[in-house]
Amino acid sequence: MAMFLATAASSLHVHASAPARACAPQMQAQNGVKTTTAQAGVVTPTGRKVEDSDYARVWQLNRNANTELELYRVQEEFRTLKERVSPTRRATFIAPFLVVSAYSGYVAVTAPDFDFPGLDSIKEAVRKLRIDGPAERANNLYFPGSLGSSVVDHLVAATLEKRGYTAGNTLFATSTCPDEVNTRVGELTDLLKIRWGENFGLGGLGGVPFTGKAGFSAYAHHVPDQGKMFILFAPHVGVEFDGKVGALRRVNQADVSTACGAAIGAYNGIIKDFEKEKKEKAFDVGDDAAYGVVAGLDDAFDAQIQFIKSRLRARLKGIEDSPDRITYVTYAMYSLVREFFIDELLLAPGVWDFAGEVTVLGGIMINRGKGGDRFQPLLFQTRTQEAGSTVDLYEQTFGQLPDLTPALGEGQALVDEFFDYDLETTGERWEEKLKEMQVKERLMKERMTRKEA
Ligand SMILES: [Zn+2]
Repeated sequence: MAMFLATAASSLHVHASAPARACAPQMQAQNGVKTTTAQAGVVTPTGRKVEDSDYARVWQLNRNANTELELYRVQEEFRTLKERVSPTRRATFIAPFLVVSAYSGYVAVTAPDFDFPGLDSIKEAVRKLRIDGPAERANNLYFPGSLGSSVVDHLVAATLEKRGYTAGNTLFATSTCPDEVNTRVGELTDLLKIRWGENFGLGGLGGVPFTGKAGFSAYAHHVPDQGKMFILFAPHVGVEFDGKVGALRRVNQADVSTACGAAIGAYNGIIKDFEKEKKEKAFDVGDDAAYGVVAGLDDAFDAQIQFIKSRLRARLKGIEDSPDRITYVTYAMYSLVREFFIDELLLAPGVWDFAGEVTVLGGIMINRGKGGDRFQPLLFQTRTQEAGSTVDLYEQTFGQLPDLTPALGEGQALVDEFFDYDLETTGERWEEKLKEMQVKERLMKERMTRKEA
């Protein structure tokens, strides 16, 4: 701008001192602007007729300078506009949108039900980089065939969708331990709840369906008309970083704790009772009691743990020959939960008042510190009200049933009868064993009392 004014001033000076001469009107280019050279006789805006040719030239030059100034202003405006849309300038506008879309992307990807084909394979590959080796080995040895939560959710959904199960016609229920580790975000019960809708909780301590026949009936009466019941029953067990079965490090706790606390507590309580009976010593409250609850005391307030203790005992025969005691207890708990669950299904009044079909997924939930939980499917069956209508969905969904011999030991009764169970089997078998055991115990006690007398 300053440079232009200097040029204009110098040309004004040169022309002003030049000798007067009359010029014919002619077009000439000056600084890219076409101008008309002035001549004597022009009329100024004030109405004054200028006869002096030098004065007329100066007046004309001023007009040219104004035009050029106008052009300069237009160029300036254009340059400002250009700057506004320059990449750096654009970035300041685009950056907030990028931040918002990146955050939205992050929220979508980290949602527990985020999904696309092949995601499970990626998850498994990433998981292998994070897990604790000893925990993974113990998991695979004692709970063979266990899978990631998301894999189970997908496999189950594929089978159920083929059978016409939708979130609209299905009511989902669980019989799992109330322990908070079983409802972790992104793990099996959470994923199934997201997929199928609400969750009717049937389970008490250890995953035993303590809501009973009344609870089961209530659940059955909430199912959509001619709808479907889909129920997951699963005891749980922790497998910690060092491969110890029954241990779990919980969020913001320095020490490991037991999982399932109810199952292990009941087992320890049984051992303690057994030792007490043998030694006939006074029973002292120790860490071994189930959550510090002593058998025989506060029974009414601790119905669940006392019930587990009374029913678990008959199933622990052979535990001393098993490779890992807590593993054995866990499978015994599974057998206990399955028995009571299926008994309730068979005996609860009005189960078929609304639902046309029930599908049951049974297994063991393995809570892990790193790399997410695992689920070992052990039963996947469906049936209608009609007796003998049970269809086994296990093989088409998960493949072959796992061999439990390495986990439980050779020749164990628990192994032999393990998979010999379906949605039509009543728990009489165990009831008989329990009765036999109770008779034996009573006889033994009577004998001891007689000896003392
Ligand atoms: Zn538990």
